Amino acid sequence: MSRTRSPKLGRNDPCYCGSGRKYKDCHLRQEEEWRSQQLRLREAQDSLLQRILAMAQTAEPADLRAAFARYWQERYQFEQLAELNEREGYGADRFMVWFAFDYVQSDGQTLVARLAAGADQSNLNPLERQLLPQWVNVRLRPYRVERLHPNAGADLRDLLTDETLTLADSHASLRLELGEVMIGHLVPVDTPLGSSRPNYYLAGPAAHLTPDTAEPLKAFAGVYLEAMQRERPTATWSDLLAERSEIFSHFILILPTDKPDPERLERFVAETRQRLLSSAA
Ligand SMILES: [Zn+2]
Repeated sequence: MSRTRSPKLGRNDPCYCGSGRKYKDCHLRQEEEWRSQQLRLREAQDSLLQRILAMAQTAEPADLRAAFARYWQERYQFEQLAELNEREGYGADRFMVWFAFDYVQSDGQTLVARLAAGADQSNLNPLERQLLPQWVNVRLRPYRVERLHPNAGADLRDLLTDETLTLADSHASLRLELGEVMIGHLVPVDTPLGSSRPNYYLAGPAAHLTPDTAEPLKAFAGVYLEAMQRERPTATWSDLLAERSEIFSHFILILPTDKPDPERLERFVAETRQRLLSSAA
């Protein structure tokens, strides 16, 4: 798609592509179809997420309990799940999204992966089916807010890989602050006209951390990657995320609730390092 054409091109002007046809009969129609398709994809994002979360509610209780223990460690009992939205900032909802996207169930797959590979997608509309395969590798992960676009979204940087991405979720971006660390599930949805990079939206609630947590959090995740690389030297952030993304929940759990406490974070990272890396030193 050309980005150099005049924005003032009229409907009856010759199309910019040189086809000789009027713009309205040539690329304008394609552009309008593209935009309406992308709008419908954004609607499908909502409905698909609701379907996924409804399936998570009916998962095997043994899977839910095992996942709960991994995500919350010993902090809470499974019976307390309903309380966690109050006590841990949408903790119940955050856990269910993590369970659906990240937790490998007893059949060796995540719920989203099983749905994407499954024979029975008859419940899904075509746009939901189109989105689903791109969501299979979505995991809980941390981002830094680089730039806010009022009422339009934000530019985010993946805290682990330094890749940048566009959050087009204007609703979610209202709760973001510049420089903060956001930990959540970002799903790719629509692709703007003329771009090859998708827009991302927030699936479920995110955790919002103060800017000072960025460095300790990266160090903390780095300790886990280093431990993983002792067994598998070629392991990457993707491997860590695929197998251990609950560590970001553990990090959130130790954060002080009143005021930043850098020493506490340093201590936590040092203890984690000691626990994971000291034995083989
Ligand atoms: Zn054209």
